Amino acid sequence: MSKHAESQDKFIAMVSAKAEVNLPLGEFQPRSMLVTPVNEIQQAKFPAIDYHNHLDAQDPAAVLKVMDVCGIERIVNITMKVGSEAVAVIKRFNAEAPDRFSTIAWMDWTDMHAPGFFSRSVDRLEKLVEQGACGLKIWKDLGTSLRDSAGEMLQVDDERLAPLFEKAAELKVPIMFHTADPDAFFFPIDGENERYEELAAHPEWSFHGSHFSKEQLLRQRDKVFARHPRTTFVAAHVAERSEKLSYVSELLNQHPNLYVDIGARAAELGRQPYTARDFFLKHADRILFGTDLVPEPNMYRLHFRFLETADEYFEYPSHASRQGRWQIYGLFLPDDVLRLVYRENALRLLPQ
Ligand SMILES: [Zn+2]
Repeated sequence: MSKHAESQDKFIAMVSAKAEVNLPLGEFQPRSMLVTPVNEIQQAKFPAIDYHNHLDAQDPAAVLKVMDVCGIERIVNITMKVGSEAVAVIKRFNAEAPDRFSTIAWMDWTDMHAPGFFSRSVDRLEKLVEQGACGLKIWKDLGTSLRDSAGEMLQVDDERLAPLFEKAAELKVPIMFHTADPDAFFFPIDGENERYEELAAHPEWSFHGSHFSKEQLLRQRDKVFARHPRTTFVAAHVAERSEKLSYVSELLNQHPNLYVDIGARAAELGRQPYTARDFFLKHADRILFGTDLVPEPNMYRLHFRFLETADEYFEYPSHASRQGRWQIYGLFLPDDVLRLVYRENALRLLPQ
């Protein structure tokens, strides 16, 4: 053994004696040693509309304070309540500040097995819009768990829902689809899964082993966009394909009646800053700012930092169990793009 190799061996032995090689994953919380610019943005550069949030459990007055501090002009609350409870939510937020809150209604499936359900849903939408709802959200239970009275899984493109989408066009309110989930949720929860810790904390979020694929679900949804060209659709969470922005870009090209929101996808977009920036520049008039996270100053400020600055390798806004072990990069979007994404695109979808 050479003198050099010998000293290297000694060094390795010394280091591994100090370090615990089999450190539990949860205890591995590395701090970045990078020294690069840090731009803390206190307020959005332009008044912003958070088009994807859930405020049912929040106190409107407390939320307003956060909005004022952060420069949030309006939050669109996607209520998860139905029936009279949904109407109560609309009233509660309108009573506090009708010019600061809007409400998207939640599709009510509670009586889906009673005769006349599909035409009743059309009437319901009409009533909800009369009472102030500015859209209707259809969640991922459609296509994955809802079964009709014959016991068949209801498909996203089920023809019986077509009159509902036509009614939305007539009423000039968008239909928001949250169909499927992140790609990783369709893979085993194991050491190769990039969202292992999140799925380990929420195994019920996994679709692995289902009889349907994510591709099938998105195909059904995309067929609805084509079938109702007069209806405006919002495909939530970057059309649930932020892992493959070329797909979303093509989807937006194919369907001029489609918008996407970025709710809960800053992590995905911010880890592919070159591709994401191109995507924003190309589709600036079709992307909606949205967060899908509890309104608090730090959450909003991380979004502003992501959209407005060229900061590198920083924490993404997230729920407690995080989305994956990576950091994000700012997109330094130009002002005209920021204006559209923060506000103007949403204004086009809200009643005047
Ligand atoms: Zn949501």
